[in-house]
Parts: sequence; structure tokens; C-alpha cells
Amino acid sequence: MVLSALLPPPLRPRNPSQPPISAASVHPRTAPLRRPGCGGTTGLALRCRLVIRALDAAQPFDYESRASELLDRRSKLKIGIIGFGNFGQFLARTFAHQGHALLAHSRSDYSDVARSLGVSFFRDPHDLCEEHPDVVLLCTSILSTDAVLRSLPIQRLRRNTLFVDVLSVKEFPKNLFLQLLPPDFDILCTHPMFGPESGKNGWAGLSFVYEKVRIGDSGGRAERCRRFLEIFEREGCRMVEMSCTDHDENAAEIQFLTHTVGRILAKLDLKSTPINTKGYETLLDLVENTCSDSFELYNGLFMYNKNSTELLERMDVAFDSLKKELFGRLHDILRKQLFEFDRKG
Ligand code: NAP
Repeated sequence: MVLSALLPPPLRPRNPSQPPISAASVHPRTAPLRRPGCGGTTGLALRCRLVIRALDAAQPFDYESRASELLDRRSKLKIGIIGFGNFGQFLARTFAHQGHALLAHSRSDYSDVARSLGVSFFRDPHDLCEEHPDVVLLCTSILSTDAVLRSLPIQRLRRNTLFVDVLSVKEFPKNLFLQLLPPDFDILCTHPMFGPESGKNGWAGLSFVYEKVRIGDSGGRAERCRRFLEIFEREGCRMVEMSCTDHDENAAEIQFLTHTVGRILAKLDLKSTPINTKGYETLLDLVENTCSDSFELYNGLFMYNKNSTELLERMDVAFDSLKKELFGRLHDILRKQLFEFDRKG
């Protein structure tokens, strides 16, 4: 981008009747620094505060600071968060910290918490859409996404708004977006592979998966998408570009499995003991990490990832086979004892 295109017109003297003052009249090497009460060009004069009166002499510095301010402002996005629950608020904290303008709407009234985070909260989604955010970020539960998206007055948005989702399943929102959003809207499907618990000490090194489903190449649309992804890059996330299909295949194992094991362990009501091992502590942590997410989220991982059903079946088979191995050995020992007893008897 040509820098001069960003710059304001040259500065003019505040008082138009004031005669133009040349830069030479204040240039330290060509003009005497003579001010009332300051004496001549002696050491005393040099100790007086330098007042730059020639505006053209002041411009290079002024231009630079204004241009960088302008560039900084232009790199910020106006992000409308739909679904301001646990995860929406968690993301908003970092977005706000990076200086983006944030708007939010949710089924519940989060006005107070939004205010404390510097987010403008809109009870009515029409009002949020009329603010024309650059990005609409869907942070609702997986199960409610379809209904929430259908209820959004997207006709009030700018014609080529960027839609992003953060759902923990990916094929489902991708298909939904392609089906419900007008062709002029851009679509970015993402999954930050961390949450309020695992990301509480920062996002560095944590994975961020995304697929650019549809990004137009006109009028800075690619740049807008890049700037959104940059939010996560700046926090040090491991950026992984991956298709939604591949994500769901992998996520069934790494995510649904983890959550299922955590929830099974929670049903055992495990307690901390004075002789905890490291392994047992890991299990207690797993229960805490997984059960602090809503059951609705877990249910969504099951319902909207077709690979999850197969994984549950594989877990059943694996558990049965393990039990068979254990009880088979026990059975062998009992039988041996029984027959030895018979022979002796
Ligand atoms: P969640 O229980 O999956 O979703 C809660 C959000 O969904 C709240 O904003 C809630 O709105 C909204 N919601 C639920 N039912 C609704 C309905 N019937 N109509 C309208 N809105 C409804 O918990 P979450 O942890 O906040 O997750 C939000 C999204 O982020 C999910 O899609 C999840 O997969 C994704 N995600 C979560 C994590 C995580 O670690 N938590 C990580 C990555 C991605 P109200 O609060 O206003 O009722």
C-alpha cells in the first residue's frame, strides 16, 4: 500500500492571518534561537524549550505518527460475537486485549459482563447486524447453531461479511454455512483446540485448526480473513490448515475420546487420596478439564460428528476384549485349582 494514500493533507497554520514562517527561521543550524527573555544564541538560549513554529518543519514527525496510528486502526476488526457464553467470553478477552472492536449478542443477557470486557452487548440481533461488523463469529452451542443462524437477520449485514465459526465439529457448520449464507458472504471454519481451562495461561503452542471454505478475492476480502487468523498467530497458536472432513476424523479420537473417558471417570466419583500417583493425578485433572465444559458441548461432539458413534463402538469392543482377557486368565486359574482339588480329594 502506498503510505502517502493514508496520510492526512499537509498541516496549515492554525491562524490563517499569520504570515507563513519558513523552516529556516527555526532550523537550529541556520536560525538564531532567540526568544524573549532567553538572551542571544548563547548556552542560555539553547537551554530554553525549543518551540517549533514552522509547521512544515514539524510535518515529517507528525506524518509518521499519524500514519502508524492509521495503519494500526486499519488492522483492527469489528467482530460481532453471536453466543456470548463460556467460550465466547473467553475469546473476547484476548480479542479486546488486541484492540479489536467487539459486539456481542446472546440468548441470555450478558450486558454486565460485556461492559466489564469492553464489549458492546446487543439484546436484539438486528441492532448488532446494523452495526455492520467485518466478521460475524458464531460461538453458540453445536446443538443450537442451526436455529441461531436461521434466526439471524443477515440481510442487515454488509453484503460480503466474513462468517466464522468455532464449533468443535467442522463438517456440520461448513455445510450449514454453504446452505444458508448468500454466495457473497465469506466463510472461514475454525476450531481453536483449547478452552478456558487449557488456555487460561495463554494460547502459545496450542493448535488452531481452520479451513478457508470460501474467501472472495475482491476488495480486501482475503486480507480481512488474514487479519482474523492473525489474532491467533499473534498469541503463538500452532496454525493448522486442514479440511473440515479431516478435522472431524481426527477429532473423534483426540477430542471425543478424551471427553468420554473424562466423563466415565467422573461417574466413578474419584477422590484425591494421600497416596496419589502422577498417573492418578492426571486422571483427576482430566475429569476437571472435561467436565467443566457443558454437557451440551459433549453431546454436540457425539451428535454432529459421524465418526463419534464408531468410536463409542470401538471403545465398547476394546473394553469387552480387555475384560475377557482378565476373566479368561482368572477362569484358567480357578479351573486349575478346582481340578487339582478334585484329584487330591
Ligand atoms: P456450549 O454449551 O457449547 O454453548 C454455549 C453457548 O450457546 C452460549 O452462548 C449459549 O447462549 C448458546 N446457546 C445454547 N443453547 C442455545 C439456544 N437454544 N439458543 C441460542 N443460544 C444457545 O458451551 P461453550 O463452551 O460456550 O461453547 C460454545 C461453542 O464453542 C461451541 O460450539 C463449542 O463447540 C465451541 N468450542 C468450545 C470450546 C471450549 O473449550 N469450551 C473450545 C473450542 C470450541 P446463552 O449463554 O446466551 O444461553
